[in-house]
Amino acid sequence: MSDAQPLVPAVGELILEAPRRGKPPQHLADLTPEQRREALQQAGLPAYRAEQVSRHLFVHHGADPATWTDIPAADRERLAAALTPQLLTAVRRLECDNGTTHKTLWRLHDGSLVESVLMRYTDRVTMCISSQAGCGMNCPFCATGQNGLTRNLSAAEIIMQVVDGARSLDAGEVAGGPGRVSNIVFMGMGEPLANFAAVSHALRVLTAPAPHGLGISARGITVSTVGLVPRIRDLADMGLPVTLALSLHAPDDELRDTLVPVNNRWKVAEVLGAVWDYAEKTKRRVSIEYALIRDINDQAWRADLLADRLRGRLAHVNLIPLNPTPGSKWTASRPEDEREFVRRLEAKGIAVTVRDTRGREIDGACGQLAAAE
Ligand code: SAH
Repeated sequence: MSDAQPLVPAVGELILEAPRRGKPPQHLADLTPEQRREALQQAGLPAYRAEQVSRHLFVHHGADPATWTDIPAADRERLAAALTPQLLTAVRRLECDNGTTHKTLWRLHDGSLVESVLMRYTDRVTMCISSQAGCGMNCPFCATGQNGLTRNLSAAEIIMQVVDGARSLDAGEVAGGPGRVSNIVFMGMGEPLANFAAVSHALRVLTAPAPHGLGISARGITVSTVGLVPRIRDLADMGLPVTLALSLHAPDDELRDTLVPVNNRWKVAEVLGAVWDYAEKTKRRVSIEYALIRDINDQAWRADLLADRLRGRLAHVNLIPLNPTPGSKWTASRPEDEREFVRRLEAKGIAVTVRDTRGREIDGACGQLAAAE
């Protein structure tokens, strides 16, 4: 990483008050292929088994050593103990949309709770995953932000959310028959770029070809961020063409300072500059996320200002109807205001989509299930 400055001074108290939590046990998915072999050698096991276990995990999605039938039964438990400690325990599984949306609430080894969501569409399966337990970014409209940051997830805790989704697809648990995970969005709990080391390793493993990783196309992966400018540059330097999503939510500093508090550190112009550099370097169209909040950020003049800031750039706007959090006075925009917002963006030639609200009845993707526990 190129910049060691504190990321978000404004929320330092929250992070300090969070209980100290133990590091999760080390797992094969935390390691490079070479480190996996070394770990086995150190445990007195043959190094070549690392590749077999990787194949079971990343190709067959079989975390249960009993299914590793190409490995002598006597060795399986020792290999599992050395390489695949159980990191995630499902506390609750919910489904909706006729069985095509599945949400899982996970308990981690130290009792922290995170969630992931699997959404099947006609042409793809998208998983929305968490990168931190809680979040330190303190955006006032987001349920996850209200309880502060508990801790970073390890790379393996991130990756195993996807492995479990792949397993449930193999097993036919998701309506529509067996299938594979084609897309991943880092839009569950946490700020992925505030956990850069684990997230960047997870990106490598998710995209690595079999047997060393899951072989998912980088183009199908979206990293969503509040806009940690130095880390956006680090992500660009990885040379992986993942899609970047910027949670902008306001085109002007005055409002964005309150909606996305990290804006007090990196202003709209600066974060957009980093994002355009990212688009240039990766040739990937950047997604500008904008939660429409009634009478807060949905005025026609803000649509015009947003369009002016994006015009001519490799970007599209993803409007998200606000999913109101319990106890908040804010709600989604009126339909006519949403339509006018879209119309003004389109009139200035900006590509815009309105996000569908999959999983809303099971509080999908906005941290509300974990918050309620
Ligand atoms: N920390 C990252 C990723 C997690 S949130 C980020 O902020 O980008 C994923 C997206 O959901 C972000 O754009 C976030 O602003 C948005 N979001 C959070 N709470 C929301 C809510 N209540 N309604 C609609 N969108 C919300």
